[in-house]
Amino acid sequence: MDKIVIKDMEIYAYHGVHDFEKAKGQRFFVSVEMELDLREAGLGDDLDKTVNYAETADLIREVMTGEKFNLIESCAERVAAEILNAYDAVKKVKVRVAKPDAPMDVDFDTVYCEIVRKKHKAYLGIGSNLGDKEGYLDFAVEQLSKDEYIKVNAVSSYIETEPVSDVEQDDYLNGCIEIETLYLPEELLKVTQDIENSAGRKRIVHWGPRTLDIDILLYDREVIMQEKLMVPHPYMAKRRFVLEPLSEIAPFAWHPVLGKTAKELLESVD
Ligand code: ADP
Ligand code: MG
Repeated sequence: MDKIVIKDMEIYAYHGVHDFEKAKGQRFFVSVEMELDLREAGLGDDLDKTVNYAETADLIREVMTGEKFNLIESCAERVAAEILNAYDAVKKVKVRVAKPDAPMDVDFDTVYCEIVRKKHKAYLGIGSNLGDKEGYLDFAVEQLSKDEYIKVNAVSSYIETEPVSDVEQDDYLNGCIEIETLYLPEELLKVTQDIENSAGRKRIVHWGPRTLDIDILLYDREVIMQEKLMVPHPYMAKRRFVLEPLSEIAPFAWHPVLGKTAKELLESVD
């Protein structure tokens, strides 16, 4: 992939675990490698089609001087998040924060941490069959949109479906959302569960009525098999109420285990 790189930008700042580091400050050197497609910008000689590195440098300076962190790791995380959030075109970024004057009783050239962070694409299934169903689904979309590490790309229409469980309950309203996120899968699960909880969800009966259910259907092309988190969602391939809204917004979303698109899965379901 094409890159724009800023190498060893010097910034005087106040990060460190020691009090004197936060009081006196020292030099930091920040490097970033932003991955984005530069072909259009290059062919058209068009600044709007690329990232303005002067602007990026300002952003880095703001992050590095706006707050005092204990760790260069925190500086790097913050810089990565700000860059990925600021530019849609940047899908991946490598950030290095070096501290050549770090307080150590040895001779050394420099010390640094380096991280790589990227945007992940995920599909979420949402459902409600209690109270103001449409209101709860809208609430989920709204809360996800408010999160600084989530961008909502698309929301399907909501469809009404009969419950699949044996528990006697009202019909469901279901939908599907495409997001771009900086969260790792486990972090995303925590965020969606917090939203379920703030919608007043109580887990009384498994597969019983609920104000709001948010399931992670797909996360990039990852396969995760843990007790708390299974991705792709184990039942998605059998459920019309998942596949119909999913196919509406992402007919070519890929199921990495079954090797089929959402549309193909929908066509093969009873
Ligand atoms: P369901 O959605 O199957 O009706 P719940 O919403 O009550 O049931 O979820 C039960 C558990 O499923 C959660 O505690 C969560 O840890 C687990 N889980 C496993 N995989 C996923 C996933 N992909 N998305 C959401 N929850 C999941
Ligand atoms: Mg669920």
